[in-house]
Order: sequence, then structure tokens, then C-alpha cells
Amino acid sequence: MNERLLALAIPLFLFFILLEYAAARRQKKQTHQYAESIANLNVGIAERVTDMLTTGSFYFLFDYLHRHFAVWHIEANVWTWILLFLATDFVWYWYHRAGHRINIFWSVHVVHHQSEDFNYTVSTRITILQAVARALFWSVLPLVGFPAHMIAVLLLVHGAYPFFTHTQVIGKLGWLEYIIVTPSHHRVHHSSNPEYLDKNYGDMLIIWDKLFGTFALEKSEPRYGLTTPLNSYSFLWQHFHFILELVISWRRAAGWKAKLRVLFGKPDDIDPRIRLLLEKKLLRRKELQVHSPTLLRFVLVQTVATLVLLFCTIWFRENLAPFQVGALALLMLLTVVNSGAMLEQRQWVFHLDYLRLVLAGLLFYTYLPHVMAAYIIILLLSLVLAKYQSMQRWYCNALYG
Ligand SMILES: [Zn+2]
Ligand SMILES: [Zn+2]
Repeated sequence: MNERLLALAIPLFLFFILLEYAAARRQKKQTHQYAESIANLNVGIAERVTDMLTTGSFYFLFDYLHRHFAVWHIEANVWTWILLFLATDFVWYWYHRAGHRINIFWSVHVVHHQSEDFNYTVSTRITILQAVARALFWSVLPLVGFPAHMIAVLLLVHGAYPFFTHTQVIGKLGWLEYIIVTPSHHRVHHSSNPEYLDKNYGDMLIIWDKLFGTFALEKSEPRYGLTTPLNSYSFLWQHFHFILELVISWRRAAGWKAKLRVLFGKPDDIDPRIRLLLEKKLLRRKELQVHSPTLLRFVLVQTVATLVLLFCTIWFRENLAPFQVGALALLMLLTVVNSGAMLEQRQWVFHLDYLRLVLAGLLFYTYLPHVMAAYIIILLLSLVLAKYQSMQRWYCNALYG
């Protein structure tokens, strides 16, 4: 039941994304860049896929901690629900604040802040590693005595609410601005204007920022994204660039004290030249990237197809064998990596696509385990293999123009 609820969240959130886009056009606001929105959605797809594979593990962790180490045993009633809501929001504030001020946590939270747009698609820019970091902070709740089933409900609430604060189409909300985190507050948080940096960490209540001195009111027009923009649609680069920067800083640091400072220090202390060095080594990008209409159409179609596949996989999960779930998950993860690489106009996307073809063939065979099906799949794969290089050239020319 719970899983089907998560599946339904996909079309529901897509509906709100389209609604916001229509509202932005009506208000004549330029809030969506095509490739940026696709890249945002792809990060969200990967998070949902990995979440699907790890479903239950956070519940198990909270339940285990509660059963073995809880100081008190708190029963569910109106007051304890209110207390838990306040506790989760308070813990969220510190988890989010740590996410910006401690390198090891920034390495997973940075993905959420890379987009230079600010709209509902940005709210989907979350990674599974961020959920792990969050679970680390939230573990204090079962230790205090809140049971896992109560925490799971609040996790859903905290999963849904921030989606609606990532928008430019909603202005200020009157007296609500004093109590809850509104789109205006969160616009400040996503902005790289110097006066807005490291502000408004709250998730649902803005009171924590006011209490701990990190509140800023939206006055000037925010500029969104990182202080040093990433300028890359590569899914892999977006996820791993800061981790690689930390690895190099760690290697360069002399002595344990300096190494620990790399992990637990502030992002500002990481030498910015390391990013430039890595970009030169790993990105090798063309100066100007013009996306052909064919490429943009192709990437959109495969993103929509992956969303449909994700919905179906979660919805029909109980009817699928573990191998099928694993193969479908891998297929979806390869697709989001592929979309990012296509927007970066990489030639190696053809290798990934061949791998996707192999996976699709395997999946087809598990549904139709007939000898003829096996022959056709092997014949098709062999044909591509025989003409591999010329097909790769044709494919990339057709995509990139
Ligand atoms: Zn943040
Ligand atoms: Zn955000």
C-alpha cells in the first residue's frame, strides 16, 4: 500500500510541475530551461530508483534503534505527534545546516543546489546519499523514544512539503511568512547572492532560522545556483565532482589533523583550483554546446519513458522477480546517466545504449522465455556488434547533428 502511494506521487508531482510551468508562462516569467529541467528530473528519477531498492531499510534502522536503545517509550497521541513534528523539523534544521557547513555532508547536498533554475523540478534534485545523511541525524528520534511507525509518517510529510517551496510563481504569503517556510524563504536559501548565503535552512517552520541567527528576508532578486556554477549536465559529474575534490584535498593534506579538516571543515576551505583541474581532466567539454532538436526530443522521450517505467516498476513490484526489479533499476539508472551524457554530446553514449539493449533483451526473455525469443535477441545484438563502429558514428551524427 505504502509503495503504491509512492508510485502515485510520481504523476501527482508531474501534474504540479506542468501546472507551475503553465502559471510561469502566464506570469511571463522565464523559470524553466529545457535541458536544466530534464537534468533535474533525471536526478530525481535516480533517487526514486535507489529508494525503491532500499525501501524499508531506514524503517528497519529506526525500529532496531527504538527496540534496543530507546531511553523512553513514547506512545502515539495528539501531544506526542505535535512533539514529534517539532522534533523532526528541529533535527532537519541542523541536518540541513550541517549539509552546508561540513564538507562530508555538503558532498551529498551539493547536488540539490547545482541547478541555476528554481522551480518544482529542482525539488526533485535529491540523492539517496542525502537520505542516508538524513537518517543519521534522524536516528536521534528513535533513541529518544519515538517509534518507527510514527517517524515514517513524518518522513512522508517532510518528503512532500519542500516540493511546494521550490517555486517562483508564488509570491509572499502574508502572516504565514512569520511561521512556516514559504517559497520566498526557500528562494533565498537557493540563491548565491552574498547576502543570502547560508540562510534559511528550515524545512517547514522558519522559527529555527530566526532562533539560531540564519534568517534572511527576500528583498533583492535572487540569482540561483552555486557560487561557482557547474555548467555541466553530466549526471556523473554532478554527483561526484565534490567527492573527487575532497579525495584530492585529502591526498594533499599533510597529517591527520589536516585530513580531518578536509572532511569536517567548510566547503569554502577547499582549494577552488582543484575543481578547475578536475574539469580539465575529466570534462573535456566543447566551448559552445548547441543542442539539436532531435537530441532534445530524444532526451525528453526517454525521460518520460523512464518515468512511466518507474511508476510501473513501483506499482507492480510485488509481481516482479528480484532479478527483474534489479534489471529494471539498472536500465533506469543507465538511462539517466545516458541523458546527461547526451546533453554533454558524448560519443560513449552508444556503449551505454548497447548495454541498455542487452538489458532490455534479457528482460524481454524473462517475460517470454521461448527459444525463438532468445534467437531473435541474440541475432539483433550480434547485428549491432558486427556494424558497431559505423552504427556509433551514424547514431551520434543523428543525435548531435
Ligand atoms: Zn540546502
Ligand atoms: Zn531546496
